[in-house]
Amino acid sequence: MGVASADANGREDGIRLRVLSLGAGVQSTTLALMAAHGEIAPMPDCAIFADTGSEPRAVYDHLAWLRSPNVLPFPVHVVRGGDIRADLLRAGRGERWASIPAFTRTVKGARFEIGMIRRQCTKDYKIVPIRRAVRARLGLTRRRSPDHAVAEQWIGISFDEVVRMKPSFEAWQVNRWPLIEARMTRADCLRWLTRHDYPVPPKSSCIGCPFHADALWRQMREDDPDAWRDAVAIDRAIRTGLRGIRGEVFLHRSAIALDEADLSTSENAGQLGLWGNECEGLCGV
Ligand code: SF4
Repeated sequence: MGVASADANGREDGIRLRVLSLGAGVQSTTLALMAAHGEIAPMPDCAIFADTGSEPRAVYDHLAWLRSPNVLPFPVHVVRGGDIRADLLRAGRGERWASIPAFTRTVKGARFEIGMIRRQCTKDYKIVPIRRAVRARLGLTRRRSPDHAVAEQWIGISFDEVVRMKPSFEAWQVNRWPLIEARMTRADCLRWLTRHDYPVPPKSSCIGCPFHADALWRQMREDDPDAWRDAVAIDRAIRTGLRGIRGEVFLHRSAIALDEADLSTSENAGQLGLWGNECEGLCGV
């Protein structure tokens, strides 16, 4: 399967840098490897992984494999906008924090009301650090942005997630979704990886992401006790004392402590069960 960009020859369209936004999940891993196989052109200049500091061990192992010699022909840079785990553990003490989409429980008369906190984490820990790195590579730090596209960002959204596509809001950068151009779903990505004898990537997202479906929380509790302990600790740390937030705060959508929540629902959507609210193409791909 070949997917040709409008300028398969390279730079004639004014694009000076092609960057693959690597979440190290199924879709962005497939995208990177398809580019490495020449099935998506032209070759990106690099991939960038925004490290929140709180991915499961399996994701960091997978990332290390992707960065190892002879896997990808282009470099994978790791950038950081902070450590979301450390920031959340401190947030309960009233310190400044980049809000995650956690659930609030407030008392309204004789009953409780459950709400969701507006999310800022994707922007602070992923979008901004990647943007900063791209601009630095283009020499645009502290310089006026060009009024035309000089960077192309590849995003690993698959055909079954087409509603998540969002154009770049900045003139100097365009977004591209090669898996959608190729009409590849997540299942197609898994088939492509298997056909080429590649390992199936783990699910990538922060350990304490409130978007997790019950199936993912269950799997974490059973298969990754360290991550589960971490998530429970974060859940406790954010319960009260968050700046600007009223009521108690929880990672689980039921607004019950994570280690007491009922995770036995039939919902089996895997990662990011609150799918419509998922990060803009940068979490879990
Ligand atoms: S995975 Fe979840 S917690 Fe982490 S940055 Fe994305 S939305 Fe925020």
